[in-house]
Amino acid sequence: PMQAGPGGADPARQLLKRVFGYDDFRGDQAAVISHVAAGGDAVVLMPTGGGKSLCYQIPALLRDGTGVVISPLIALMQDQVDALLAVGVRAAFLNSTQDAVERDRVESAYLAGELDLLYVAPERLSSESTKRFLDNGRIALFAIDEAHCVSQWGHDFRPDYLSLSDLADRWPDVPRVALTATATAATHTEITQRLKLGDARHYVASFDRPNIRYRIEGKGEVRQQLLSLIRREHDGDAGIVYCLSRKTVEQTAQFLAANGVNALPYHAGLESGLRSRTQARFLREDGVVIVATIAFGMGIDKPDVRFVAHIDLPKSVEGYYQETGRAGRDGQPSTAWLAYGLQDVVQQRRMIEQSPGDLAHRRKLSSHLDAMLALCETIDCRRVNLLGYFGQTSTPCGNCDTCLVPPVSWDGTIPAQKLLSTVVRLQRERNQKFGAGHLIDILRAKKTPRVDQYGHDELAVWGIGSELSGQQWRSVVRQLLAKGLLAVNDDGFGTLVLAPASIDVLSGAMTVPMRLEPDRAAGSSGSGT
Ligand code: ADP
Ligand code: ZN
Repeated sequence: PMQAGPGGADPARQLLKRVFGYDDFRGDQAAVISHVAAGGDAVVLMPTGGGKSLCYQIPALLRDGTGVVISPLIALMQDQVDALLAVGVRAAFLNSTQDAVERDRVESAYLAGELDLLYVAPERLSSESTKRFLDNGRIALFAIDEAHCVSQWGHDFRPDYLSLSDLADRWPDVPRVALTATATAATHTEITQRLKLGDARHYVASFDRPNIRYRIEGKGEVRQQLLSLIRREHDGDAGIVYCLSRKTVEQTAQFLAANGVNALPYHAGLESGLRSRTQARFLREDGVVIVATIAFGMGIDKPDVRFVAHIDLPKSVEGYYQETGRAGRDGQPSTAWLAYGLQDVVQQRRMIEQSPGDLAHRRKLSSHLDAMLALCETIDCRRVNLLGYFGQTSTPCGNCDTCLVPPVSWDGTIPAQKLLSTVVRLQRERNQKFGAGHLIDILRAKKTPRVDQYGHDELAVWGIGSELSGQQWRSVVRQLLAKGLLAVNDDGFGTLVLAPASIDVLSGAMTVPMRLEPDRAAGSSGSGT
C-alpha cells in the first residue's frame, strides 16, 4: 500500500490530498472508504459525478495488494488508467483490445505486486484461467462498477455480470464494493442478491441533480425545436443530442452543422478510429455538440456539458436519468430537454409487441415504457416523479418545466369516448383497424382517398370530432396510449385497438384528465404531438 505520510491522523484523507489533490471527501465517500479499507463489503448508489471512483481507488491504495476493478467500459479503460498513472497510481487494464505482449506485461506486473489497480472486463472473470491468474497475486478488493448491469430487470443487462456472483464464493475474504448511478429499489435488491452482498453496508445518496432543469415538450418539427433551444439558450455550449436510430443521428448532425452548430455524429456503425476522435474532440474542444445513439456517453467524464437533448423518447426512466445525468457534472445550471410525440409512443409500443423475447420480457419493456410515459405526461413536478421512480421522496423543485409553468389540465373524457367509439365501430361494423392519422381524419371529417375507398364518411362517427384540431387530436391519442386506455395492435402496422381499461372510459365510469398542450401553430404540421 501507499505510505500515508508522516504526521497525519487519517491516512485516507492524506491520500485524498496528496494523490488526488482534494481537501475534503464528499457525501458518503469517507464512510465507504473506511468501511471497505477495513475489509467490509459495500453497495454504493451515487449519482453521476458523485465521486464513486475514489470509493474503491483509495481503499485499494490503503490495502495490501491490487484492487481489481470490473468495468464494462472497455473503451474508457485506457483513459482511466492514464489519469491514474498521471497522479502516480500504478494502474493497468486487461481487455480484448490488447495484444499478447501488452497482456503479458500487465500480468507480470500484477503477479509481482507492482499494481495498485487493475481494470478488467467482466467477461474475463467468467474464465477459470483468469481466476487462477488472480489467485497467484494478491487481491486488495473487488470493485464492481456499473453494478446495475447485473440486473435482468434493468435496462442495461449484461450476461457477463451474472458470473460475478462467484467472487463471493471463491474469495470470501476479499472485500467487494458494487457501485452504480442508477438503481430502482428492485435493481438495488437484485444487485445485492446476485452479487451475494447480503452482508454489505449500503450507501444510498440522493439521486437528485438540482442544477439540471428538466423540460419535456410535444414534438413538432423537432429539428427546428432543437435548433431554437440551442440558439436561444445554449449557443456555443457543449451538449449531447440523443436519437434512437443511426439514420436520425446522421440527419440531425447534418442539419445542425448546416445551421452553424459545431455538431458531430456518433453511433456504433461508425468506424472506431473516427469514434475515438469524435469523443476526444468532445472532451477537449469547447462547444462541441455530439448527436448520438445511446452508444455514446457511459463513463465519459466531461464536467461542462450544458445540455442533454432527447429528440426521441427514451425506452426507460433509468436510461433517461443516466443520459440526462451527463449534463452539469460541474454543478452549474444545465438543461435536460426532451421532445416526444404520438409517433414515439406508437413506434415503441409496436416494437415491444414485435420484440422476440418471451411474455415476461415484453412485460418488462412495457413497464419501463409506461414509467417513462408517466414522467412525460405528469402534471406534477418532473423531479418528484423522477426521484419517486428511484424510491426517493422530494418536494416540488421549482426548477423543471411543470414547476415553472404549471400545466393546465382539461377534461378529455368526451374526446376520448369519441375516439374509442370510432375504434369500436370500425372493428365491430367493418372488421377494420387503422392508425391514428386515419382515425383523426374520420373524426374531423377530412375527405381523403382512403376515406373514399372505404366509404368511411358513412360511419355514424364521421365528423363528430371537428371541435379539436389535428394537433389536439394527436395529443389526445398520445395521452390515451400513455395512460394505457388505448393500445397498439401487434400487427406491426401501428394500428390502434382497445385496451382492457378502454371499457371504463366508454361506459363513463372513468374520466380522463389531460394535459393542455401549447399550440405550436407554426411549423407543427409534421407527424408530431
Ligand atoms: P462518478 O463515477 O460517480 O460519476 P467520479 O468518480 O468520476 O464520479 O468523480 C466525478 C468528478 O468529481 C471527478 O472529476 C473527480 O475527480 C471529482 N471528485 C471526486 N471526489 C472528489 C472530492 N472529494 N473532491 C473534489 N472532487 C472530487
Ligand atoms: Zn419541479
